[in-house]
Order: sequence, then structure tokens, then C-alpha cells
Amino acid sequence: MSEHYVKVKIHVEQIKPFGEDAEKQGVDAEQEQEEEQVAVSSFPPASVSPDPPSITIAGRDVSNTFKHRGTSRIKMGKDDKNICGKHNLDVSLHGGRNVNKLGHERTLHIKGTGQILQGKNNENNGVSMHPSKHIQVARREDGFKLARKRRPVTVDTSKAKTSLEALKLSIRQLKWKEFPLGRRAPCDIYWHGVSFHDSEHIVSGQVNKFPGMIEMLRKINLSRAVRTMQELFPEEYDFYPRSWILPEECQQFSTQIRMVKENDASVNPTFIVKPDGGSQGDGIYLIRDPSDLKLMVGSQAKQAVVQEYIQRPLLIDKLKFDIRLYVLLKSLEPLEIYIAKEGLTRFCTEPYQEPSQKNLSHVFMHLTNYSLNVHSGNFVHSNSQSTGSKRSLSSVLYRLAAKGVDIKKVWSDIIALVIKTTIAVVPELRVYYQAEIPPGKPGPTCFQILGFDILLMKNLKPVLLEVNSNPSMRIEHEQEMAPGVFEYVPSPVDEEVKVGVIRDTLRLMDPGHKRTAISNLRAGGLDHGEEIPMEAEPQDRSPDEGALPSLCLKQVYPKYTKQFNYLRLVERIAALFIRFLGVKGNMRLGPTAFRTFIRTCKLSNSNFSMASVDILYIDITRRWSGTMADSREAGMGLQAFVEAFFYLAGRRFKSQPLREQVASLLELCEAQLETPPPGRRGEALGELQQGPASLHQDSDPPPPPPALLPRTPAPGRQPGLPAAPETQASLSQGQPGELSSSRGSHSQTTPVALSPGAATLAAPPLSSHKQCMMGAERRTPAGSLCGSTVLSLIAFSPEGGSAGGRVGEEIEHGIPEGCCIR
Ligand code: ADP
Repeated sequence: MSEHYVKVKIHVEQIKPFGEDAEKQGVDAEQEQEEEQVAVSSFPPASVSPDPPSITIAGRDVSNTFKHRGTSRIKMGKDDKNICGKHNLDVSLHGGRNVNKLGHERTLHIKGTGQILQGKNNENNGVSMHPSKHIQVARREDGFKLARKRRPVTVDTSKAKTSLEALKLSIRQLKWKEFPLGRRAPCDIYWHGVSFHDSEHIVSGQVNKFPGMIEMLRKINLSRAVRTMQELFPEEYDFYPRSWILPEECQQFSTQIRMVKENDASVNPTFIVKPDGGSQGDGIYLIRDPSDLKLMVGSQAKQAVVQEYIQRPLLIDKLKFDIRLYVLLKSLEPLEIYIAKEGLTRFCTEPYQEPSQKNLSHVFMHLTNYSLNVHSGNFVHSNSQSTGSKRSLSSVLYRLAAKGVDIKKVWSDIIALVIKTTIAVVPELRVYYQAEIPPGKPGPTCFQILGFDILLMKNLKPVLLEVNSNPSMRIEHEQEMAPGVFEYVPSPVDEEVKVGVIRDTLRLMDPGHKRTAISNLRAGGLDHGEEIPMEAEPQDRSPDEGALPSLCLKQVYPKYTKQFNYLRLVERIAALFIRFLGVKGNMRLGPTAFRTFIRTCKLSNSNFSMASVDILYIDITRRWSGTMADSREAGMGLQAFVEAFFYLAGRRFKSQPLREQVASLLELCEAQLETPPPGRRGEALGELQQGPASLHQDSDPPPPPPALLPRTPAPGRQPGLPAAPETQASLSQGQPGELSSSRGSHSQTTPVALSPGAATLAAPPLSSHKQCMMGAERRTPAGSLCGSTVLSLIAFSPEGGSAGGRVGEEIEHGIPEGCCIR
């Protein structure tokens, strides 16, 4: 016991210089005092585990933990107010929750309550001191000495909300300095619970949220972003279920499904309807017929996504489950993505049956949301990470591996899904970012932890359900102690995974972290074949990190640049868009700026007059207006610009598939602007195996100028429906019929036609980006309709044999370490 006090005393001594250091920087004295208190009461013991995270929790005295930590919580709503003060109190009452998971590390929890368990208790808990630990302790103490020399990284946690507890633990493990009430002087890192805007006027440091991320990851915007990529790369983006946006595509949804059923009466698909801004399963319902849509009219019309329901998910113990994967978007430019090696799986609590009219409303059977299932009588809280209704991802993969599943393939498919999805949302994020923090204006840089929800189909193909901009970082779960009485009790699996993710995110964002020359690179700015400098790997970590486990976050981009960079076409379009935005803070392009773009890039000619350019601008902008969540100004948003760009590309390079048309036009524009694009110039076409960009394609007889806009199912207008009267009027005054390229001609007649076989179409030439946009026509023939399973509607490769699969195979697999551990 005395030894323990000696250790704590050493810690106090070691903390002092941090405080002094901070004071020198003009830190508020009162604040400083409080911080020191927090640090003393919760400083991790010397027995910090040097071991990498494992999935076992052997030796953990969970009963003690429960006894001391689990009983004083009051149920809080999901939108807890800033509970900073209360959490501080909890911390001192319960002691700091410390490093990872082992019983001996738990000792300090109990310290605050007057009980100190150490050495002997460790053994009681079944944890024996490994000889290497002595070395680790020595290394750690060396680390302390080094840490003295370095100013501790400062973190403002005043807006952390429900992630506060995991954040505090992480900061303590790193021996960084927390400012729970904020700080007058700037902090290195600001941790926000909800959005970039949680604190205003941050002019330096780093914020853990990107502007616009919440908007971009709403269900409708995510669906739109993925759709755009599906137009360009249908096979690569076949991991997202076919979706329709409500209310605007309601008619189209009904028509397409009716046609599917007419073609094959045995087809009986199911759909899941999800409110646009919903979360935690709120407002979700399943339907089997479009007439079951609960649509309101007028201003009450609810924005939602209706999506094909995956009828045959992979089951474990007869239960449906999904995967929550944590992904760090470390930087937009250069694009840097990390994936947590460990994640969570959330299980349903009622055995799964394929949907039938009878069981459609059984939420515990169909929805995997923890927030719903925790209220089922069957929910199993477990202290083990491999049992119960919430388990670690590694324990599930391990179990699958034991059954002979090729989990390396599964994991590489998941990595591919994450990179591709991120590539889909980055263009719009870049627009938000430059509007919020224009170049030259002081501001913070951003990073963000995202929660990817992924379902495994029976054939093991991962399907993206959604991406959460604010994944729950709670490390406790609700438990009903008595009827109607809920308490928050520690959740070992949550703590294990989430503290690791936050801590290692902080480590990667450490402003003092030695980085390679990567930060000097622009996104995608490497030559093909050039070696990609990697982020420092754990062994390169600074000496004061010596006692920490190896990073649980694994870099996947730029690591796999070669495999995925060719997908970044829309990002290059976004770079052009941003360039012509002009006014700082703008997110929309005005008509003059659009004209300037056309002129500068020399896209008009005698066959495509500036009058036609104006018509194009008016028509597309009108149809898109009002659909963006952020309509702070009038004009052409990025998505509308992308549509215009696709159209222009189609006119110019009409004999090629869309992706090549777009790549060719990008080459042309970038050459005119003499700007290296985000994806290296010349790369896209090369990667698309089309040989050198043919900039002379426009010597083809150019199509006539616009008179009728593409039949894109753009917002507010259904494909196949006549243009709005005013649009018709305005366009018919131009050159009639001239813009109606052949690419639009199928969209009105071809039904949804997706069978597993159809999914593996050998990338037929895209006849229309309009067709592709709705994802149906590209999957013709019409006869190949859904088989007996609705899975077919999604046009997945039946056994995951898409281009995505090929890419995945090339990936050096990064299986969560825990897979190989008990
Ligand atoms: P929320 O944000 O409300 O949680 P999700 O999109 O995550 O919405 O959907 C909630 C749950 O519904 C998911 O966790 C999953 O279990 C189920 N689900 C969602 N989409 C599908 C789908 N297309 N097919 C099958 N199940 C789905």
C-alpha cells in the first residue's frame, strides 16, 4: 500500500512542472488549480498495461467496478447537456477509470472511494505481473522524464458531452492536460460532443469535428453522394443498398417497384424507410409495398430515404447483428483515413426470420440498434466481449474464422467500403471546409471520428447502412436495476474499444507527433508508382508514449492510394468548383462565376454558346435549389455543378463511358488552369485503362447546344416525368431538343432489373449518367429481375465478386489483432 502512495506521490511531483509550464503561458490560476486536482485524483497507476489491447478481460474485477461505479448514476437523455461539472464529481468519487481493462488497472477507480487494491489483489484477480512489465515500468518512468521536458498537449473538454468520460480516461493515459471548463488561452485540441460549431471563435489548434459533416452524413445526402459515385463507378459502389429519396422520388419508387413485380410475380421485396435526420432507429419502419409509405403532404412531408431491405443477413446464434466500425478522418487534404482495428457488434434480441407481413413490425428482430434492443427483455449485458448483445468485432471475426470464413477477405472488403464511402463524401466536405475556414483566415484544422454501420450479408459481403457523424462514445450502458429504474453501469466492451479509439486519435493528432513529409503532400499528389510515405507507425512513437499500447488505428489512406485514387474524380470537380466560388465563405456558384468557369476552361464554342451555358446554369440550379440542407445562399451548389460537369463531359466526349468522359474533361479543365488536381493529373485516365487522355475528342462533331436538360432524376423532378412547365418554356426558347442526348433515352422505360446475375454485369458502357443515377437502367436487361431474394435488388455481386473484391484482395490485410486472441 505504501508503495502505491509512493507512486502516486511521484506522479504528483511529475505533474507540477506541467502546471507551472501552463501558468507561464498565462493560464487562469483558478483553472490551473482545478486541473491539477483532477490530475492528482485520477492519475493512472504505475501498472499501466504496456500490452496491446486484447479481447480478453481476464482478471478484471468487474464486480468491484460495478459496486463502486455503477450505482450513483441517474439516467440521462441521449442529448445530455454539458455535464462537465457532474462528470468531474463522478471522477473524483469513483476515481479515474484508467488504462484499459485489467483488474490491476482498476485499482485507482477504487482509490477514490477509499479502497486501494494493488499487487496482491492483482493476483487475486488472476493477473500476474509479467517480467517484461518491470521493463515497461522503467521505460514508462523514462518517459516521464522526457515528458517533463515537453509541454503537455492541452485539450479543451468543456464541450465533450457524452464522450467526456472516455475522453478523460484517454487524456490521463496520455498524461496530457485537460481543461474541463475551457481555457482563455488557446488549447491544442478542442473536443466537441456534437459539431464543429459547439464552440465559436476557435482560431487555432485542432477541432474534432469537420464543418458540414453532420449535414453530409444525413441519410439523404449520404445517399446522394454515393449515388453520384455509383454513376461513375457502379461496380465499385455496389455496397450501398438501392435507395430512393422521399418525398421527391416517391413516384419513381412506386413505379419501379410495380414494374419489378409485374415482371415477376414471385418477387416480394421489402423496404426499410428511414427518416432523414433520424438516429437510433427512431421512426424506422419496414414496408412491402410502396402504398404502405407513410407520406405526409405539403410542409408536413417528411424527408426520408426508402431503401432495399437486406433480407438475408449473416446470422450468429440465429440473431441479426451489425458492425460499428470507428474511422478517423484525420485530414481532408491530404486525405488521411484510419480504421480502428477493433469495433463493436450489436445484436438483435429476437431470432431472425426473413421479413413477412406478420413480422415486419418486430423491431427486436430486424433492427440492430442498441438503443432499441436494450429495452428488450432478452438483451444480455455481458462482461465478456464475446458474448451478450454487444460484442467486440474481433470476437465475432474470430468466431467466423473458426467456422472457416475467410475473414481476411471480409476485413479487406470492409476497408475498401470505408475508403470508397469516405471518397464519396469528401468533395462536399471540402466545400464546407473552405467556406468555414477560407485559406488565409485563421482557424483550426479538423479531424473526426466517424461511426460506420455495416451489415454482413449471408454471403459475407459488407453492406453500408449508414455513417454516424457522432457515434456514441459512452462507455457505460443503461441497465434496468428494478422495474422502471435505469442506471448507467460500466460496459467493459465499450470502454475497451472506445477509449482506445479516442486515445489513439489524440495520439495521432498530437501536435508534437513526428510526422513524415506526408503533411507536405497534397491529396493524391504522388506520381504513379511513387512510394507513399507512411504515418509514423507505433514503433516510431515518441519515447513518452513508450508505455502505451500500439496504435489501434490503422492507416488505410494514403496507404492504399494506388488502389483507390482513381475514384477521386468528384473531388477534382469540387476543386474546380471551389476555385471559381470566389467570395470567401461561399458555397454556391453564381451565374457569372459559372460563365467564368466555362470561359476559362474554354468549354464554349460555336456549338455551345454562352447563352446555352446560361440556360444550363438556370435549369440545373433551379432543380437543385432547396434540396441542400445548407441553403445559406442562392446559386449552384456542388451537386448541381457535378451534374452540369457530367453533362458537359458527355457533350464533349460522348463516345466514352461516363467515368472516362469526366476524367477527360477534368484533364482539359486542369490543363487550362494549369493546376495539379487533387488526384494527380493524368492518373485517372491511366488508371481507367483508357490510355492517354484524348483532349482532341472535341474534334468530333459537337452536339448541339442545350435546349432540354438531361433527364437526371435531380431533386424535385422525377425521371421520366416531363420537365416543369417553366423549364420547358425556358428551354424551348433555346435550340429545341438539342441537349437531349441519347444517354437519356432509356430512363423512362427500363424497369428496375436487378438479379444477382445482373449485379455482375461486366461494366456495360454507361449509356447515361441519368440512368445510372437511379441505378436501375445500368443493370438491365429488364428480364433479369429479382429472384426470390430482395438482395438481388441491390445489384450486389452474388459472392462479392465485384471490382471492389478485386481491390480488396490486393490490400495488405489488417485484421483486428484480437482475431487471433482468445
Ligand atoms: P439509425 O440511424 O436510425 O440507426 P440505420 O440506417 O442505422 O438508422 O438503421 C437502423 C437499423 O436498421 C440498422 O442498425 C440495421 O439493423 C437496420 N437496417 C438499416 N438499413 C437496413 C437495410 N437496408 N437492410 C437491412 N437492415 C437495415
